[in-house]
Amino acid sequence: MAKSEAKPDARPGCILTMGEILVEILATEIGQSFRRAGTLIGPFASGAPAIFIDQVAKCGSPCAIIGCVGDDDFGALNVERLREDGVDVSGISVIKAATTGSAFVTYRKDGDRDFIYNIVNSASGHLSVSEIREHLLKDCRHFHVMGSSLFSFRIIEAMKSVIETVKANGGTVSFDPNIRKEMLRIPEMREALDFILDYTDVFLPSGHEVMLLASASTEKAAIDELLGRGVREVVVKRGKDGCSYYDGKDERHVRALPVTEVDPTGAGDCFGGTYIACRAQGFAVERALTYASAAGARAVTYRGPMEGTATLAELDKFIQERSEASHD
Ligand code: ATP
Ligand code: MG
Repeated sequence: MAKSEAKPDARPGCILTMGEILVEILATEIGQSFRRAGTLIGPFASGAPAIFIDQVAKCGSPCAIIGCVGDDDFGALNVERLREDGVDVSGISVIKAATTGSAFVTYRKDGDRDFIYNIVNSASGHLSVSEIREHLLKDCRHFHVMGSSLFSFRIIEAMKSVIETVKANGGTVSFDPNIRKEMLRIPEMREALDFILDYTDVFLPSGHEVMLLASASTEKAAIDELLGRGVREVVVKRGKDGCSYYDGKDERHVRALPVTEVDPTGAGDCFGGTYIACRAQGFAVERALTYASAAGARAVTYRGPMEGTATLAELDKFIQERSEASHD
């Protein structure tokens, strides 16, 4: 292997993430308003880091999540689901005095989504450095950060602390910004995102997010800027337009598999979980991208954000079916 080639991390150890664990409850009709009574469906297991790590487990990589749930059935639903799928749940604290977070989602006619979140004041809002479990840090060789988790200064402080420890132990960090523009108006948030980017090895933005964290005015220049500041791999998620990979030397583009979208929530998290797990298992970039795009495409065919997580065998089957369908 050439020295400059991005080297798959083949050390044993676990993939770790930290952040919100939620249930999601969905409106059943397109254009359904939350200003009047209507039929809802759920609860579904959710939370971007939780979906990510469930997908990592399904790919067969050892993994764990640090997070908080309430002492209630929504929490139990999540913990049981993650445990069943193979995630180490020893880092999930049950907060007696709090309720598990939730998100209510309704889909607009144009495909956009409206959310009502109860996260900041939920058990997930209790996350802080005191919830970090040392045994998980010791085993961790890769830590994944979701921008959606950075909603309190206590959580940002905890993220920074885990990142520093993991990197000091020789581990790697991935970062999916999953960010809303208004978050960038808070000066401390910008500083936190910059801090995380400085430690990021694998950056996994959605198309529009590439520009948010760089000063350059074109996507290409923004990617060069990110690579220039030390990011080793930039993988851009482009929804039904597929994905692109850049490492400064190599550039790859993978087309999306043709699917009928039922529920787009969770596609990016399934994509990220698959990419990180495949790379940790030593897969080459092209193969990891193929599995990751299949995981994203498959996820949007399932209602419920975590319902579409899949094993590599299920992804092989899905890739075969979809390729046959596209030749019909
Ligand atoms: P989110 O809205 O959950 O944050 P994201 O922007 O992080 O999503 P997407 O780009 O929507 O992530 O999806 C990740 C990947 O999943 C895409 O790069 C693509 O490979 C696949 N994917 C997503 N939507 C579709 C679709 N409609 N058809 C086929 N593949 C899709
Ligand atoms: Mg995303």
